[in-house]
Amino acid sequence: MNNGEYWNPVLETLAREKLQQLQLKKFKEIFAWAYEHSKFYHKLYNDAGMEPGDIKKFEDIKKVPKIEKSMMRSVQGPGKENFPYGDILSVPLEQVTDYRQTSGTTGQPVYQADTWQDWEYSTEAYCYALYAQGYRAKDRIFLPFGYNIFIAFWAYHYAGEKLGCEVIPGGVLNTEARILKMQELKATAMGATPTYVLGMAETARKMGIDPPKDLYIRKITVAGEPGGSVPATRKRMEEAWGAKVYDQVGSTEIGHWGWECRYQSGLHVNEGFYLVEVEDVNTGESIDEPGRKGKMVVTTFNRMAQPCIRFDVKDLIQWNARKCDCGRTYRLLEGGIQGRADDITKVKGVLLSPAAIEEVVRDIPQLSQEYQVVVTKKGDIDDITLKVEILPEYKKDEAAIRAKLTDQLRLTTNLGYNIEFHEYESLPRSQAKSRRFQDQRPH
Ligand SMILES: [Zn+2]
Repeated sequence: MNNGEYWNPVLETLAREKLQQLQLKKFKEIFAWAYEHSKFYHKLYNDAGMEPGDIKKFEDIKKVPKIEKSMMRSVQGPGKENFPYGDILSVPLEQVTDYRQTSGTTGQPVYQADTWQDWEYSTEAYCYALYAQGYRAKDRIFLPFGYNIFIAFWAYHYAGEKLGCEVIPGGVLNTEARILKMQELKATAMGATPTYVLGMAETARKMGIDPPKDLYIRKITVAGEPGGSVPATRKRMEEAWGAKVYDQVGSTEIGHWGWECRYQSGLHVNEGFYLVEVEDVNTGESIDEPGRKGKMVVTTFNRMAQPCIRFDVKDLIQWNARKCDCGRTYRLLEGGIQGRADDITKVKGVLLSPAAIEEVVRDIPQLSQEYQVVVTKKGDIDDITLKVEILPEYKKDEAAIRAKLTDQLRLTTNLGYNIEFHEYESLPRSQAKSRRFQDQRPH
């Protein structure tokens, strides 16, 4: 599958037409597999009057019904066949070797089954990402994440091994112990969420350790939150560590479908392993032109136990017309994941994307990386409060910082905010995904 270096010059530089032929072939295969082996997909396609022979050209893919998280959940769980995976499972239960689940905060998770081959496929996809980010056999990777039932950085761990790097599992250690271990072993790379990357640097400085000078981490792969593609957040992380920071995207149900290469020109979609489509949020019309935002619909080609076919993820993305200097023809996304279709809310009649607020806050060096946005309703009027932390040494500049925040937020989001300054380190911090945006309006 690869030339030993996880840089496949044939696959990764294919002309679009050739690539689409390949994608069509792979799509047909997974469609036929799911139709024949999964009761869930068989019923879905039967009800839509579709069968494998109906997909003849690339455009026919658009006719295939989409799936959503709620549909997967409805056929899974207690009382369902093939517990806990349900009718979506496409292999005998005894072939399943890996269990994961989604980390949603409400209700039943999606239970994800993988065979060993499926898991290798996800890992292989991650290998292409790490290779493109400059990971090589001489790297010593430190993984400061809780090894548990969530997908998080599991594939990063296996991909590191597969590339020949040395992988240190920093599982149950606390942050201080992780930093000391990283220093002791001279680890050169790590993977974590943007929140934790910034939090660790803060902790290190308190311990009298300055990451760029006293640690050896020079490559950081971030995932789980959009920060890696938010320029101001990336800059903070790179300066705090003296390292290059690369965004990487994936999910439990899909696998690891996109990554930034060393040129940091945007997220490359791994189009040899995944089909990513962009659709207009309201009309469902397919968007192929760059610069127009839509929601992502994704298909994983070779994941057999629990196929992921035309999954409506509800993440917002847009194509970027740029050609990357790395030479890959895999398409680029502009600005990574730009929030979720569900997250983009109307406040005072204006569409607000939480990522726009993040960009403004993180671009002001006198503020800590933590912030919170709370939307409430006062009478009939929406009210937004932005809570930020001012760094202790800049307390005297509060008025100037408030003015700058107000101006910048007005410029980028067209909205006015109540700005609250909180004591440094008083806002909640999390090691995993943070929920910094809270919409408390009655629905
Ligand atoms: Zn590139």
